[in-house]
Amino acid sequence: LVAVDEIVSEAIARSQERANKRHVNLILASTARVSVMGDRWQLVDAVSNLVQNAINYSDERARVAVSVIPTTVDGVPVVEIKVSDNGIGIRPEDQERIFERFYRVDYGRSRQSGGTGLGLSIVRHIAVAHGGSVRVWSRPGQGSTFTLQLPAHPGDQPDTEESSS
Ligand code: ATP
Ligand code: MG
Repeated sequence: LVAVDEIVSEAIARSQERANKRHVNLILASTARVSVMGDRWQLVDAVSNLVQNAINYSDERARVAVSVIPTTVDGVPVVEIKVSDNGIGIRPEDQERIFERFYRVDYGRSRQSGGTGLGLSIVRHIAVAHGGSVRVWSRPGQGSTFTLQLPAHPGDQPDTEESSS
């Protein structure tokens, strides 16, 4: 079991330098004590990819917010890790294709940033390997929110502090 707040903190720590360089305000908007079953470093990698995209495809001095939201789907506990930016956004016709290997949107910023187009295909692979999913909401010129959804184990913390009540 891996604590989701630790995954998210680690992903933010890894991306902080890049955020500072672009004067992007990277914040943890909300978190929760939830655990998921899986590989810590793969999950950190997945969240880092989303955070780094959010930084790369935003203007300088933009805001990137990460939140951890425990919820249920058909009564099954899940946790949603949301990465929101107010960056360039993604056209509707590109929103499915960005998860394909090597697919990069063919305009300005993504070309300049010189990635390989593999990041999101890896995120999807890791999500599915953990019984979860990744989806995107976006509006061109307004921003994007990527949601990584994973099966949660809310009652089963790895290192819960003993409550002395
Ligand atoms: P890398 O392999 O280094 O991650 P990449 O960032 O180009 O390269 P992906 O992370 O797979 O590859 O993203 C694919 C494309 O989706 C990007 O090139 C970009 O066009 C678009 N994209 C991804 N995230 C965002 C975002 N938050 N806002 C706007 N466009 C995005
Ligand atoms: Mg990327």
